[in-house]
Amino acid sequence: MVSKIRSDQKGRIRAVEYIDGQGARKRLDAEIYVVACQAVETARLLLMSTGPEHPNGLANGSGQVGKNMVFSAGGSGEGDIRYADLEPGLAESLKVRGLFVNRALQDWYFYTDPETGQRRKGGTVELLFRHANAISRAVTQKWDSDGNLVWGKPLKDRIKTYFESGRHLRFEVFNDWTPVDDCFVSLDPEEKDKWGMPVARIRLGYHPQDLEVGRFLSRKGAKVLEKLGAVNIDWGVSGSPPQNLVAGGCRFGTDPKASVLDPDCRAHEIENLYVTDGSFMPTGGSVPFTWTIYANSFRVADRIIAALGGPRQKDA
Ligand SMILES: Cc1cc2nc3c(=O)[nH]c(=O)nc-3n(C[C@H](O)[C@H](O)[C@H](O)COP(=O)(O)OP(=O)(O)OC[C@H]3O[C@@H](n4cnc5c(N)ncnc54)[C@H](O)[C@@H]3O)c2cc1C
Repeated sequence: MVSKIRSDQKGRIRAVEYIDGQGARKRLDAEIYVVACQAVETARLLLMSTGPEHPNGLANGSGQVGKNMVFSAGGSGEGDIRYADLEPGLAESLKVRGLFVNRALQDWYFYTDPETGQRRKGGTVELLFRHANAISRAVTQKWDSDGNLVWGKPLKDRIKTYFESGRHLRFEVFNDWTPVDDCFVSLDPEEKDKWGMPVARIRLGYHPQDLEVGRFLSRKGAKVLEKLGAVNIDWGVSGSPPQNLVAGGCRFGTDPKASVLDPDCRAHEIENLYVTDGSFMPTGGSVPFTWTIYANSFRVADRIIAALGGPRQKDA
């Protein structure tokens, strides 16, 4: 667990301090330092790593570290496909359990707004079956439609019907979380973690357009379920993002006043610091963006190798 990145009087990084598995505090030094702690934790570590030339945190002369956090906007929906409503052959093929593979539609990655006639960026509608795990599927049946807990035989009957009568199909929508000033990470002034370091405090703000786009795409997702013959279709959008897709906080760009990293993900202010997790993203793109993080980190790795003078012979 890296607890602090130490910089010298010239602002260059000299060492990282970390806590090992036994709780011992240690130090490491290197030529080049690559931070990849995930968007929230990277911002937290940089903000904690004050130094003589970085009084407000490492690479934070612009005040941009932790700013412009982005999640994935969108929505989700679901519906039931009943075997009894399908042609027998189709119903049989749907009963076969396969791999947990998702299918996505990008027909509305860009679309024309039906009300304003304006061209807009949309996103991805991903269709997925509920995970095959029997327990997690059974647990969904414990509440009735009025929100009452179901017990005993009625619960058994509900589970049996649910497992035998059809498949539950879900969709998730991914669209851009527009960067806004009201969405950022800072250090909590009071709460500390078990090592005595301030925890990250997250401010969640969003742009109303994110919900409008999510609503448009969710309606399309619901329409797809309807065309597939699903019943009990339900969908919704929300400004409270799922915690799994988190990016931004050290966005890259060409303007050091408005970004933390340069286009190669090297800190504008610190020559031997790179950031390669999701922090670099100014927006997430209208997809689940993990592959983009991977692709960028391989790209940056090539830049780092070049900065070190090219590939080195292993046995040289
Ligand atoms: C339940 C779940 C499901 C998901 N499903 C999908 C999906 O289906 N598709 C998709 O595209 N994405 C998915 N994601 C998102 C994906 O996991 C993230 O986008 C991705 O892992 C982010 O990469 P990262 O490099 O920014 O950070 P991470 O992969 O989180 O890596 C950060 C690493 O840094 C370590 N670390 C943090 N702080 C410190 C410190 N101070 N010192 C040392 N080490 C530190 C952490 O332990 C971690 O190993 C899912 C995430 C979750 C949680």
